[in-house]
Amino acid sequence: MKLDATDLRYITSDEFRVLTACEMGSKNHEVVPLSLITQISGLRNGGVNKLIGSLAKRNLVSRVQNAKYDGYRLTYGGYDYLAMRAMSKRDTMTSVGNQIGVGKESDIYIVSNQEGDEMVLKLHRLGRVSFRTIKQNRDYLGKRKSASWMYMSRLAAQKEYAFMKILHEHGFPVPTPIDQVRHTILMEFIDAYPLRQVSEVENPGKLYSSLMDIIVRFAQAGLIHGDYNEFNILIRRDTGEPIVIDFPQMVSTSHANAEWYFNRDVECIRRFFRRRFRYESAFYPKFKRTMSDGKSDFKLDIAVEASGFAKKDLKALEEYLEAAREEEGEEGSSDEEDSDGSEEEGDAEEEEEIVEEEVVEESEEEAGSGDDTEKEGEPSRKTKESEAGPSTSRTDKDIEELEEQLSELVIPDEPNRSLSRSPPNSRPGSPRRSHHDSDSEDDHDDDDGHNDDSVRAIATNELTKKRAQQQRKYHSKRSVRNAGRPQGSKAKQNNRVNRDAFWE
Ligand code: ADP
Ligand code: MG
Repeated sequence: MKLDATDLRYITSDEFRVLTACEMGSKNHEVVPLSLITQISGLRNGGVNKLIGSLAKRNLVSRVQNAKYDGYRLTYGGYDYLAMRAMSKRDTMTSVGNQIGVGKESDIYIVSNQEGDEMVLKLHRLGRVSFRTIKQNRDYLGKRKSASWMYMSRLAAQKEYAFMKILHEHGFPVPTPIDQVRHTILMEFIDAYPLRQVSEVENPGKLYSSLMDIIVRFAQAGLIHGDYNEFNILIRRDTGEPIVIDFPQMVSTSHANAEWYFNRDVECIRRFFRRRFRYESAFYPKFKRTMSDGKSDFKLDIAVEASGFAKKDLKALEEYLEAAREEEGEEGSSDEEDSDGSEEEGDAEEEEEIVEEEVVEESEEEAGSGDDTEKEGEPSRKTKESEAGPSTSRTDKDIEELEEQLSELVIPDEPNRSLSRSPPNSRPGSPRRSHHDSDSEDDHDDDDGHNDDSVRAIATNELTKKRAQQQRKYHSKRSVRNAGRPQGSKAKQNNRVNRDAFWE
């Protein structure tokens, strides 16, 4: 998606006040009546008319005419703007560069702070999937009139940030979380390729062990990733170390369907290794065994809950994610889907037979590779420390305070070179709703105006150009295919069974 170069630098303080009023009104209104916006903004009637017209022109709000009354909705562009402005106010980020990723449920941008440190901004987009399917499950909405995209996207960001923070603090290989506002998360930029784009690795057995080891460590700490696949595992360009991302769907090991989620994560990796690297191991973690072996006395699932994340919010998000997956259908789950088929060679069934034969070739030298696993699984402790804690409410609504900056910020003028695209159905569905007893008949329609998927970004030309260069340099198809490419011939590559019996 191309950045929309709407000139946000010139938003006036009154316009900002009206935009914020529209956001506040959205809490209880799907379409916020103009009279309410006027009332909240505390500005004069005629003035607000003009101001909101100007915001609508820039797609920060959209006008909605319905049977009962006319009003406005905050668009994603408006919500993005408010979030970025709040972060810029806190100095955690001050400029936006290229988009580097686009998923069904997020947009990912490179951003930077005043010191020029590059970071990643993830903007959650949970409204892209229609909410029709969760009509039945709306009891958690309480007084809220609708399961709005704003609410869901914000929950996803809050949850993801809470998990990322706790995982990072406990030494898991995840990006360093930096800040969180509304539906966005600011985190460390990982110079890496998604595993999906890696065609060869030096030592598939070692990587496989590391990835399974991470699953085990997650589970022993009380967590299951829930979407552990080649799209959500980044391979560091320099070290080849895996970094795990994308946490909104994480579940606790005490979840009713924990074993199902656990097995699915394990199976995603096994299948990917089989198909991509022709690597198959007889060893893989089993849920019950993993749980009974669990030696850690900290339970991260409980820690996350204690971090102030309301249970009902977690449930709301879980229900949304599940409904969204169900609506998408399960046919296109990541293991079968191939959005850029050119890179995937050998998904054919025949190959599986070849793999079967390879599995039999075992080598004694590999017996001790458990040590490698330990090393590879080591967390990214070297990453810089979090610079700011979460404070979702801090200054967000403080109209008086949020009226400056941005004058030095410039809109990027360069289209994106290469986006890392999440698969349309990267997250397979959930087990049949065994854990849901949805009997609420609450039936609020909620086809929000979330289709404004353009990002209003404040950006520096310099950063954009620098990123574009990097994109060309590192993210061209050729460099991607060479990532982690072993030096030796194919015959020398480690495609054999890893005898590390760590999970058995
Ligand atoms: P989604 O929920 O939409 O799948 P992800 O968090 O998986 O979003 O991110 C989508 C893509 O953006 C990833 O596949 C990756 O290429 C890129 N990405 C996300 N976070 C980072 C990061 N911290 N550093 C570098 N790239 C990232
Ligand atoms: Mg993802």
